[in-house]
Amino acid sequence: MKLLVANWKMAPETAIQAVALTKKIHAIARATKKNITTVICPPFIHLQVVSKNARTLFVGAQGVAPVTTIATTGMVSASMLKGAGVTYCIVGHSESRARGETNDLVKEQLDRLLEKKIIPILCVGEHDRDPHGWYLSTIKDQIETALLNIPKATLKRIVIAYEPVWAIGEHATREATPVECNEMVIFIKKIIADLYDEKVASGMTILYGGSVTEINASVFVTDGGADGLLVGRVSLDPKRFGTLAQRIATVVS
Ligand code: PEP
Repeated sequence: MKLLVANWKMAPETAIQAVALTKKIHAIARATKKNITTVICPPFIHLQVVSKNARTLFVGAQGVAPVTTIATTGMVSASMLKGAGVTYCIVGHSESRARGETNDLVKEQLDRLLEKKIIPILCVGEHDRDPHGWYLSTIKDQIETALLNIPKATLKRIVIAYEPVWAIGEHATREATPVECNEMVIFIKKIIADLYDEKVASGMTILYGGSVTEINASVFVTDGGADGLLVGRVSLDPKRFGTLAQRIATVVS
């Protein structure tokens, strides 16, 4: 079973468009449900209407308040997300980190989600790669901070998404290669194995994200060793997203 997460970012513009997109993605998810769990992550404002139309789809949010105090203007709490039908939530996305979210803040968000039994999708990734591999310490710090004091039994309720910043969005310099993806999946599992043990590490769900398209998707799952994908721009185009899902379903069936 693979996990396919659609990050709609700050789109679509209207609730009517969000419902239309949800219905189209639901049809794709229904056709591939034997092999793929599909999650759609709309902006906060569309969460309720998307949840009402999600049927067998899972709904995710794109962030959460790191605290529960009411005096937190502009944020949405984990308990509000739960009430809006949210099962998953992206935290630590590079676009949120670029607005000032630190590793410590991401850790607080992850803890708030776990308290409400929402599955965090913890995004990690380096800005750039250097020939000496120092960038690996960025990933290690991001994971170690987020998982501080998290008991072993809770790890199965956390997803990690490797998203190299240089490969994300319209300013991406290039997509990662399947070999780079696979090395990182192994590295992330090694970090978890060192923190906990090999059994729990091998059971973790590690996604790849960054300029995933219907053309390159399946190779990240086969050669790249990813347990699924986090898809941004292409998830807003149901035709391309449908082809992508079909191709993943074909390689895992
Ligand atoms: C993302 O938003 O997490 C992402 C990977 O975006 P894109 O697929 O557009 O690069």
